[in-house]
Amino acid sequence: MATNRTFTMIKPDATAAGNIGAITKMIEEAGFRIVAMRLTHLSRERAGQFYEVHKERGFYADLCAYMSSGTIVPMILEKENAVADFRKLIGATNPEQAEAGTIRKMFAKSIEANAVHGSDSDENAAIEGAFFFAGIQQY
Ligand code: GDP
Repeated sequence: MATNRTFTMIKPDATAAGNIGAITKMIEEAGFRIVAMRLTHLSRERAGQFYEVHKERGFYADLCAYMSSGTIVPMILEKENAVADFRKLIGATNPEQAEAGTIRKMFAKSIEANAVHGSDSDENAAIEGAFFFAGIQQY
C-alpha cells in the first residue's frame, strides 16, 4: 500500500527568485498538507550525501555546487498517493519538457536549477525526509 507522505525541497534558484510563497501555495492548493518544513542551507558535502545515487553522473559536481549555493526549503508533505501525485505536480526534470501548469514549467530555470525536488518512491521519501527531519516533531 502506498504511504501518504513524500519529501520535497524548494531549490536555491527558486528561493533566490522569491518563489517560496508561490510554490508553497501551489503545493497546498493541490491538496498536500505540510507536516514538516525548514529554511536551511546545504554544505557541499551534505549536498553530495543527499545526491549520492548520482555520483557517477557527469553533472554530479555541478549539482552539488548548485544545491549548496543558496537557501533551500525542505518539507515533508502528506496526501493520499503523495509520491506519484507530487511528481505530477512538479513536472519533468527538464522544464522544457514539463507540462503547462506544473511547478517546474512555471518556476524552473534549467534542467539543473529546476525549482523543486520530489521523491521518486515511498522508500526514498522516507530516507530523504529523515535526512532533514530526523528527530524533529512532525504534525
Ligand atoms: P528528478 O527526480 O526529476 O529530480 O531528476 P533526477 O533524479 O534524474 O536528477 C536529480 C537532479 O539532478 C535534478 O532534479 C536536477 O537538479 C539535476 N539534473 C538531472 N539531470 C541533469 C542534467 O542532465 N544536467 C544537470 N546539470 N543537472 C541535472
